[in-house]
Amino acid sequence: MSRVLILSTTTGYQLRSFGESADRAGIDLIFATDRCHRLDDPWRDAAVPVRFHEEDASLQAIVDAAASRPIDGVLALGDRPVVLAARAAQALGLPGNPPEAAAASANKMRARQRLAAAGLPVPWFFDVSRADVGSAARDPRLRFPCVVKPLGLSGSRGVMRADSAAELEAALARLEALLSRRDVRAIRSGLEQTMLIEGFIEGREFAVEGVITRGTLRAFAIFDKPDPLDGPFFEESIYVTPSALPAATQEAVLDHVQRAASALGLIHGPVHAECRVGPGGVFVLEVAARPIGGLCSKVLRFTGEPPVPLEEVLLQHSTGREITDYGREAQAAGVMMIPIPKGGILKKVEGIDAAASVPGIEEVRITAKRDQLLEPLPEAGSYLGFIFARAPEPATVVSALKRAHSQLLFEVAPALRVLGSLSGDRRPGLPTND
Ligand code: ADP
Ligand code: CA
Repeated sequence: MSRVLILSTTTGYQLRSFGESADRAGIDLIFATDRCHRLDDPWRDAAVPVRFHEEDASLQAIVDAAASRPIDGVLALGDRPVVLAARAAQALGLPGNPPEAAAASANKMRARQRLAAAGLPVPWFFDVSRADVGSAARDPRLRFPCVVKPLGLSGSRGVMRADSAAELEAALARLEALLSRRDVRAIRSGLEQTMLIEGFIEGREFAVEGVITRGTLRAFAIFDKPDPLDGPFFEESIYVTPSALPAATQEAVLDHVQRAASALGLIHGPVHAECRVGPGGVFVLEVAARPIGGLCSKVLRFTGEPPVPLEEVLLQHSTGREITDYGREAQAAGVMMIPIPKGGILKKVEGIDAAASVPGIEEVRITAKRDQLLEPLPEAGSYLGFIFARAPEPATVVSALKRAHSQLLFEVAPALRVLGSLSGDRRPGLPTND
C-alpha cells in the first residue's frame, strides 16, 4: 500500500474528497496542515503539525513522520504549501518540483522575470516597494491601462485595474491597506513588502488544468471563462470545458503553458495555469504548482464506471505512477463560482431548489453560512457557493449555469461597523475558497 502526504491549509471538502479517492485507490494518506487544531476529519491518522512559514522546522517534522510511516508521494493543496511540498519531496527522494521552481511559481514578480527571460510574451512590469507607493504613479515606465497586484496572494485578492494616474494611486492605497491587514499578514507569504504593476492584457481568459511529468505538461482540460474579465476587479465566475477556442489556438495555449512551466522550472506535479488570449497572442498569467482549488475540482471527471475524480488521478500521479490510461470524460462540464453581490451579512438564500432543477444542473452548493460576513473583492475573495452543470455541449452548460444562478436570491444585510470599520482587525474569520 502506498502512502501520500497532503499539505494543506484547509480542512474542508477537498480533503474529504482526497480521503474518499484514497480509500478507493487503496492509498493511505498522511496530512500536514497548518491548522491542526481545526482538523475536522477524524477519519484519518493524526496530522503532522507544520507552519508553512517555518519551513525548516516543518520539513524536519515531515521527515520525522516519514521515518515511521514511509511516504511515496507528496501533494500540495492551495498556494501556501507548494514550496514546503517541493522541499519535502526533495528530502524524501520523491517526485516533485525543485523548491526554487515552486517558489518562483508562487511569486508574481519572479514568475514574470522567468517568463520574460525565456522569451515568453509578458506585459511590461515593474515592482514597487510599499515604502515608495507615493511616487509609483509618476514612474516613467508606466502606461495605462495597468494592473496592480500583490506578489503573494491568490484568488485575485488585491488585483486591480487602473486607467489613469488617479486610479492607480487609489488602487495602490487600497492594496497597501489590504497588505496591512492582520488576516493578510497572518498568511506570512514573506512577500508583503512589494507590489507589482504591469500592463493590462487585452483578451479573453482561459485556465488549463493538468499535470507535469518529467517536465512535460499533460493537460486534462482547457477551461473557457466565458464572462469577460476586464476589471476593475477580477472575480472568477464560470469555468467550462471543453474550450470553444479553435484547435490551433488551443494548441498555442498549451504550448505557452508548457513553455511557462519549463521557464519556472516545474518538472513534476499538478499545475493550474491561467492565460489571456487576445490581439497580442497568448499571455500566460501564471502557472501555479497545485491543482484547481476546492470544490471546483468536481468539474473534472475521468472515464470509468463510476467516473474517476481528479483527486484519484492526482494521488496516483504523486507517487510517480503513469496516468496515461486516465482520460477526461467526453461530455461538457462547467462550474460557476457564485460571486458575492455586495458586502454585508448573509441573511437568507432562496431559490436553491429551483436552481437545482434547471436542466443540466448537477448540484447547487451554497458554502457561505447564514450570518457570515461577506466581503467582496478586491479585499477578500470568497464565493457564496458553486453551481455544477454537465451537458453534451459547453454552450448548454453555460446557459444552464446562468439560468440556475438567476433563480438564486441572496439577502445580504448591511454589516454593523463595530469598533471602527469593516477593514479593521477584529473581524470574524472568513472561510477560504479551498
Ligand atoms: P491571483 O494569483 O490572485 O489569481 P493573477 O495574477 O492570476 O492573481 O490575477 C488575477 C486575475 O486578474 C486574472 O485571472 C485576470 O483576470 C486579472 N489580471 C491579472 N493580471 C492581469 C493583466 N496584466 N492584464 C489583464 N488582466 C489581468
Ligand atoms: Ca490567478
